[in-house]
Amino acid sequence: MHSLAQLDRKFVWHPFTQMRDWQRREPIVITGGNGAVLRDVCGKSYLDANSSIWTNLHGHRHPKINAAIHRQLKKIAHSSALGLANEPASRLAEKLVKLANQKSVIANPKLAKVFFSDDGSTALEVALKLAYEFTRRTRGKSVKPRFLSLTGAYHGDTIGAVSLGHIDLFHKAYGGMLFPTDQVMSPYCYRCPFNRAKPERADARDYRRCRWECVGQVEKKFAAQKKKGNPYAAFVFEPRMQGAAGMIPQPDGWLRRVAEIARSHGALLIADEVMTGFGRIGVQSQASLFASHHEGVQPDFLCVAKGLTGGYLPMAATLTTQKVFDAFLGEYEEFKTFFHGHSFTGNQLGAAAALASLEILQSKKSVSQRSELEKSLREELPALWTLPVVGDIRQVGLVVGIELVKNWRTRESFALRERAGIRVCEALARRGVLTRPVGNVIVLMPPYCTTAKQLGKIVSSLRSAIGEVLPK
Ligand code: PMP
Repeated sequence: MHSLAQLDRKFVWHPFTQMRDWQRREPIVITGGNGAVLRDVCGKSYLDANSSIWTNLHGHRHPKINAAIHRQLKKIAHSSALGLANEPASRLAEKLVKLANQKSVIANPKLAKVFFSDDGSTALEVALKLAYEFTRRTRGKSVKPRFLSLTGAYHGDTIGAVSLGHIDLFHKAYGGMLFPTDQVMSPYCYRCPFNRAKPERADARDYRRCRWECVGQVEKKFAAQKKKGNPYAAFVFEPRMQGAAGMIPQPDGWLRRVAEIARSHGALLIADEVMTGFGRIGVQSQASLFASHHEGVQPDFLCVAKGLTGGYLPMAATLTTQKVFDAFLGEYEEFKTFFHGHSFTGNQLGAAAALASLEILQSKKSVSQRSELEKSLREELPALWTLPVVGDIRQVGLVVGIELVKNWRTRESFALRERAGIRVCEALARRGVLTRPVGNVIVLMPPYCTTAKQLGKIVSSLRSAIGEVLPK
């Protein structure tokens, strides 16, 4: 075993990893990368098929982002945002506000202020605390604001974000530490309990019989909470596609409808665009880089992280309205201050990387790269339908989930202990393609620079990995 692999085994505890399994095999030690390719310590190359856990946008070692970080390094790496301003953070805030309010896309409410933090979880934590306190300041201090999120929701691993989550496997153990929130069904069409669409493979989703029962459930939930005399303070959602829930796309029109319901009940909207932001959801609406806008929805809180810096550095942002901001204004001794912040809030290197990444995203070249990749995915993926264990293929823009099932006719799932998704991804790694599953769902979310040829390799490797691990 390579000495660096030994070093890792001896000292590192990995996230979301059963370390006993980890100890049983030699870890892949990454030493370099370029574009969509990662290289390990033994010289083997891999395609980064999940953009390093959904973070990387334009590829590794992008010359423009590298140069922006180098330029910033010559000035300063970090100074605190507690009591001090800095140029890249101010410029980035201005740019984010501009991007989030493009008049051709969305008018109301205007997002006016940016609160920086470190990662997806903290971006949500900030939104949660702001919405909580804003609600108490507007509805009265005796109110205990309550939040609604979606079945299968995942919004991060800090305690507030976990409280909003509804994945038992991750969250149940911490139940005693959490505050109560409610969940409402997400529109998981493949497993819809209402229209019971016939599993007919490529067109398994039979929308003809759909009566938007899932939207009806949202309406009911809001009405029931109103009856209790404490209408929901906020509705928290991932727009267009739920990620860690299993790559669950929302049918066109769902988000627009539920957002209207939430607003009509006076709830704030918290959009978690940690995965969906910055063009992941496709370029059909080139005017916006945010998934909420594809449905004409402007949230009161827009949370971004992962791709904000192009996937280079840990940085996040929570955008909100002037109205929320104003609720925290007062004389010092009124103590209306938002008492929240992190040591690296507004970090200069992260902001410099983010500014460069946004400039790339807005270039013609990036827009055409993204539409090419989206098209290639659409062309390559249908080849997987012939595999009997492929139950559903879900693509929204540049995000794909392939659900593996024991029996496509009945949609019977593999038991989690069978590790079907994990074993397929291990076989994929042996073929030089890296990704991680979400349960039995294989995730493909390559960097935007991935070529049609590289994508062809990803999909053909997946086909052969599934054939090896789950032969029928
Ligand atoms: N929200 C969503 C939608 C996510 O996918 C994730 C991470 N996968 C998070 C929040 C948490 O982000 P982080 O891991 O950066 O804290």
